[in-house]
Amino acid sequence: MIPSSGITETATAPGTVTSTSTENERIEMTREVDEEEEEEKIRRQKKLEEALEAKSLRRIISAYLNYPEAAEEDLNKWERSYRKLSPAHKALVPHYALKFQRLRRCISTNSYFIFNMLQAFEPPVDLSQDLDDGCEDTNLDCAPHEKYILDERHDSSCQPALTNNCRHKEESKRIHDSEFQKKEANDPSPMNHSEDPRNNDERNDCDGGHLNHDHGNASVSSHDWLDPSLQTHVPLVDVDKVRCIIRNIVRDWAAEGQRERDQCYKPILDELDSLFPDRQKKSTPPSCLVPGAGLGRLALEISCLGFISQGNEFSYYMMICSSFILNYAQVPNEWTIYPWIHSNCNSLSDNDQLRPVSIPDIHPASAGITEGFSMCGGDFVEVYNESCQAGMWDAVVTCFFIDTAHNIIEYIETISKILKDGGVWINLGPLLYHFADTYGLGNEMSIELSLEDVKRVASQYGFEIEKERTIETTYTTNPRSMMQNRYYAAFWTMRKKCAKTT
Ligand code: SAH
Repeated sequence: MIPSSGITETATAPGTVTSTSTENERIEMTREVDEEEEEEKIRRQKKLEEALEAKSLRRIISAYLNYPEAAEEDLNKWERSYRKLSPAHKALVPHYALKFQRLRRCISTNSYFIFNMLQAFEPPVDLSQDLDDGCEDTNLDCAPHEKYILDERHDSSCQPALTNNCRHKEESKRIHDSEFQKKEANDPSPMNHSEDPRNNDERNDCDGGHLNHDHGNASVSSHDWLDPSLQTHVPLVDVDKVRCIIRNIVRDWAAEGQRERDQCYKPILDELDSLFPDRQKKSTPPSCLVPGAGLGRLALEISCLGFISQGNEFSYYMMICSSFILNYAQVPNEWTIYPWIHSNCNSLSDNDQLRPVSIPDIHPASAGITEGFSMCGGDFVEVYNESCQAGMWDAVVTCFFIDTAHNIIEYIETISKILKDGGVWINLGPLLYHFADTYGLGNEMSIELSLEDVKRVASQYGFEIEKERTIETTYTTNPRSMMQNRYYAAFWTMRKKCAKTT
């Protein structure tokens, strides 16, 4: 076959090459064939990427669906240990059997919330496609999740799970998308009202609101992908991610999380407020991007402050949950969950461990958002390195985000690129690099710069530090636990003085 470059030259510069009309026809035909081949290649690649995304999403849905089973397994383990006690020792903790019953009800209530959340979810890709065949002969990772091991530090601090393979680089999804609005949050449920954990008045007693453990089946009809028989094997690391999300819900959407939000989000909001004092008077509000937005509370608060706010998040674990709360919550405290039941350690009392938490603490839709609030799914670097994003943002806010990078320099470079000249980068967080110590995964890149080096790199990208301090904070910590991991997080405001690259 004639190399396409040769053909292009001939075709684009007809005066420079002498050729007969038959030759030209032949060349034209070859070019068409080449174009078709190229289109076919792109189509196949797109299909493969979609297939990988569907596979990854199925895995995440399976992890959510597996929640009751995994929790029940733990409970069985605890019960087995209890049964090994001698009668005399058992008699010393007579309430223990009852605690197991209570735990079982809490698991059901949590499962009910999770199942409703899944029901509301509209997968952006066709989950029925079978993808395994296409994967083998490409360089694309077939099961990217398998790459992630659970870092003990992340486990204890409950840093949200990474799902690096979510290739849902899609159009920004408006939070109050009419598609989403169409679905009723209070879909008909198999449970009667007394079993519904929404508006559960018995806040201090998780025995209230007993649920049928078989919570799933009646809702499957419209969502085939929720059928438990389609579930794949769920590795422990995924089980853990679901539990982390439950803790993140408290951080972002419960009154119990207020203290943590005051530590992390308030300094950022105060800083934005003072940096953009005249924003209400402007015809267009300033724009603010929140990469690694988690469950979306910070992005929402920024919107309520009068910014055109966009959260960016690449974990479907997070996106499924934030979408549910942002789009489907109808009243404050609509749901009850039991976030702390999964560990018996460091509890002051059983009642502490089994205490209910009401969510969401506010009704997002009535919180006073500024028009233009959106959540955008996808990898930060991939999505925002598009040329149309350059110089688009007045502010970028990162909270517990920059250490999620394989290459933090790439994050800083991207932040610099998308900010307007004079735009600000506000950051709060530690440098607990997510890909540090990923033992056994030798090819996993992880650039772990010190704070000093991070600042040095930032200055190379045109940033000047305007404010800097340390903030002491927890992250998704149970406020009543005897163990409270603390971060001495870096907090800074940097301004992009000029577009400078290395
Ligand atoms: N800002 C939130 C969440 C912090 S955890 C809070 O303070 O609670 C970091 C978040 O970044 C996780 O939700 C993770 O899924 C997300 N994340 C990690 N790498 C990302 C990337 N490359 N692009 C977009 N989001 C990413």
